[in-house]
Amino acid sequence: MATILEPGQIEAAASSPPFLYLPPHNLFSLRAMRLEHLAEGHALADYLLLIAGVCRTQQRVLDDPPLSEPLDRQRIDLCQQHGLPPFAADSLVREDDWQLYLDAFLQHYAVPEQPAVADAVATIRAANSGQRRAWAVALVSGQFSMVPAALVPFLGAALQTAWSHWLLSTPDLKLTPGDSLSQCPACGSPAMAGVIRHRGKHNGLRYLACSLCACEWHVVRVKCVYCEQSKGLEYLSLEDERHAANQAPLRAEMCPGCNSYLKLLYLENDADAEPLSADLSSLLLDMRLAQDGYQRLAPNLMLAPGDE
Ligand code: FE
Ligand code: FE
Repeated sequence: MATILEPGQIEAAASSPPFLYLPPHNLFSLRAMRLEHLAEGHALADYLLLIAGVCRTQQRVLDDPPLSEPLDRQRIDLCQQHGLPPFAADSLVREDDWQLYLDAFLQHYAVPEQPAVADAVATIRAANSGQRRAWAVALVSGQFSMVPAALVPFLGAALQTAWSHWLLSTPDLKLTPGDSLSQCPACGSPAMAGVIRHRGKHNGLRYLACSLCACEWHVVRVKCVYCEQSKGLEYLSLEDERHAANQAPLRAEMCPGCNSYLKLLYLENDADAEPLSADLSSLLLDMRLAQDGYQRLAPNLMLAPGDE
């Protein structure tokens, strides 16, 4: 029996790129450094620095995690046998393990002297586990409007730390593509942005970065990750005095078929770029695309949509 390869598989077979990249163990430190760098002279400097502080606390929790036992290995293996994401966010968020990471986050986070931030953190501290679970379930399922906007980065931070820790501390993962191109193979969450890699034999390949666990999976380029069409895709970047238009380090891939877009980072134009910080520092591009009628389907757990 002949096996017919899809175009994406032909590309994969020809260059055999790794399907998945795990995030580095210092991912939150890298984000914090990058945010501090991007904050210089930025209109949203205060916000970027606030998130940098959140990321530093995430790194602290990841370095000394509250849950040293890995998740139930049988369950992970069973999920993998059935081609399901082993760290399925929609079910694990309903269990209480992730809340240990929220407690650890709250314990280590030095609240800056900003009344709105202090109020938000106090609200989370005062909430019981049922309320915390309800907020987290809403965030993980993309229903940001069910969560007070000011609480989003802190709840999001705890969730990210838990899932990245589970991903990084589980050996021998064999992950396979999810149901849709934009879905993380490890946790089933939607992609936050795409990264076009440079250097080496995987130069020019696109990986999508998970909004929750931060793993990156390979998806062919020039294809809408939502409706899988390639027709009429357009690319838009913000004007930037440091880069010529054709060398923009960040562009939105806009699909006229489903009216959606995804931001892409081009590492050849900025080798130090990192998806979460690049996304938060380019909210002007989202505003412009929203005005043009494009919808954003990619969540960023550090920001309630419409709260720019
Ligand atoms: Fe994920
Ligand atoms: Fe599309």
